[in-house]
Amino acid sequence: MRVKENLERIREEIRISSIKSGSGPGDVTLVGITKTFPSELVNEAVRCGLTDVGENRIQEAEKKFPQTPNARKHMVGHLQSNKVSKAIKIFDMIQSVDSPKIAGKISERSLDSGKRMPVLIQVLTDEGKQSGTRPKDIGPFLREVSSLKGIHIQGLMTIGPYFEEPEDSRPVFRQMKQLFDSLKDKIPGAEMRYLSMGMSEDFGIAIEEGANMIRVGRALFGRR
Ligand SMILES: *Cc1c(COP(=O)(O)O)cnc(C)c1O
Repeated sequence: MRVKENLERIREEIRISSIKSGSGPGDVTLVGITKTFPSELVNEAVRCGLTDVGENRIQEAEKKFPQTPNARKHMVGHLQSNKVSKAIKIFDMIQSVDSPKIAGKISERSLDSGKRMPVLIQVLTDEGKQSGTRPKDIGPFLREVSSLKGIHIQGLMTIGPYFEEPEDSRPVFRQMKQLFDSLKDKIPGAEMRYLSMGMSEDFGIAIEEGANMIRVGRALFGRR
């Protein structure tokens, strides 16, 4: 099993990148993205100290996550309306809120089950294939959904565009951080605590530019 070594290497990179960014390494939450990886590997990582795990599909999370009780669970993929009730049962945070409609639905269903779901708003930084809200529309989006009682907005998430050269992601991350900072304390009900960006190839660069939540799959669990 390589997971232990991988986790140590990732932690070291988090430490170094945090120093460059001027924040402490304790400020960065590592979310292990477990899609396609078996529960044995996931639990190995949790035994080595991984606290947070994420999936992008409800079906896979539904099967897998009950076997990993001791971790916080994050939804990081597009959520369909008819899966919201399930998502609320499975996850501790939904990072992929990509429309006012889905925000409303999550709020409604959370209230039904006596919860207030922590969420991040997904920002579109790769026009090609993702869902999410364009950076310029995030302010109005937040104002629209911030009064919903069943969600607790805790920040922003983005899946940056893919580049051969990870360094090319830096300007995108920098713009995200500026957007994040510009929204701080601006919209009542929308807390800007987490900025979730950076994956296996570029999480170090994301941290240097201000990410405090990173989502890492392959670098932790191996090839998919
Ligand atoms: C798969 C996935 C990741 C992790 O990707 P890796 O390249 O395996 O690190 C992060 N975020 C989202 C939304 C994903 O779907």
